Amino acid sequence: MPDPTELWCYETLRRLRWPHGMTCPRCSERRVTIHSKSTQSPRRKYLCLQCRRTFTDLTGTPFARTNLPLRTWALYLRWMEHGGRTSELAKALGVKWDTAALLQRRIAMARSGSGLSRQLCEVLQGPHKGESCGGGT
Ligand SMILES: [Zn+2]
Repeated sequence: MPDPTELWCYETLRRLRWPHGMTCPRCSERRVTIHSKSTQSPRRKYLCLQCRRTFTDLTGTPFARTNLPLRTWALYLRWMEHGGRTSELAKALGVKWDTAALLQRRIAMARSGSGLSRQLCEVLQGPHKGESCGGGT
């Protein structure tokens, strides 16, 4: 299975989060518009027409408020299956040790709960859960 792309991660997240159309995470309003798009990332910013607040694809998810690409989280989730140590994960993902530790903390919290956060971890992990990733990149 090839590594997930950033676009795939965002599309998968949106599909799970908003299967019946986008709603505001704060007031559940359905009238939301795209506020801004980035050229660097598929991440979008939205504006709620009811409460007039903005939110992104990641607001309210375990992946919010970091500058990490969403695919780093997906890769982490895949790696975690193999029970890697923090230092190995950091090396594999090309991030600092404390970033890898942050990923671990957030994911552990998300997976121990229920609902959306846990489901997001499961879908980003991909359809081939438990299968060997091979190792050739
Ligand atoms: Zn709202």
